[in-house]
Amino acid sequence: MRILLIGPPGAGKGTQAARLAAHLSIPHISTGDLFREHIDQGTELGQNALTHIRGGFLVPDEVTTGVIKECLARPDTERGFLLDGFPRNLAQAKALDGILADSESRLDAVLDLEIPEDQVVSRIAGRRLCRQDREHIFHVDYSPPEVAGVCGFCGGELYQRDDDREATVRRRLEVYRTETAPVVDHYQAQGLVTTISALGQVHEVLNRALVAIGRGQVDASGTSS
Ligand code: AMP
Repeated sequence: MRILLIGPPGAGKGTQAARLAAHLSIPHISTGDLFREHIDQGTELGQNALTHIRGGFLVPDEVTTGVIKECLARPDTERGFLLDGFPRNLAQAKALDGILADSESRLDAVLDLEIPEDQVVSRIAGRRLCRQDREHIFHVDYSPPEVAGVCGFCGGELYQRDDDREATVRRRLEVYRTETAPVVDHYQAQGLVTTISALGQVHEVLNRALVAIGRGQVDASGTSS
């Protein structure tokens, strides 16, 4: 399956994308994670991306689309993929349409995660990521690690993202409203969008996503039924 996951900052996109992709055995491609890897490795692309990410702005389209084009050319994406955080504006959506048309493939579903804006800042302020594996995401209140500051999966150090500070989050929300929301309309016109509430337990949101794409269900432990 070829799926897009769209949603404002704080909707739990990264958490859901990782679980959904694992459940469907398809690669999880997150542009945010790819940029953070480049930043950690000190590449030129990473340095360039960081100046935009720090301010809560989008990384320029030519950089972002180049990164995605490279990913979608990999053989492991032939049988499907889950894109998390791309496309984030109409130009990127049109670029993706072109990449897919060139490979004679098409999207199966676009999942639009919805969350009231007043929940966003508190959700993001408490978010902590694992330095060793970015797919391991915690929240100091809603999904705390057993030992503060330590990843319960691999023992890695937990940290707060640079762009998760309140002023930057507000800028990211503004960018979402003006640039990313029109992407949902673009795919709505193609009949691909299902809107899903991002409220509730992680497995409840995951089940809404699975129902939307016509797949099974999981229980609270993540086991399929
Ligand atoms: P995320 O991890 O998806 O929240 O992304 C973190 C930051 O990376 C965003 O706030 C943007 O600055 C940048 N970014 C991620 N994906 C994109 C994209 N598709 N286009 C432009 N910038 C992006």
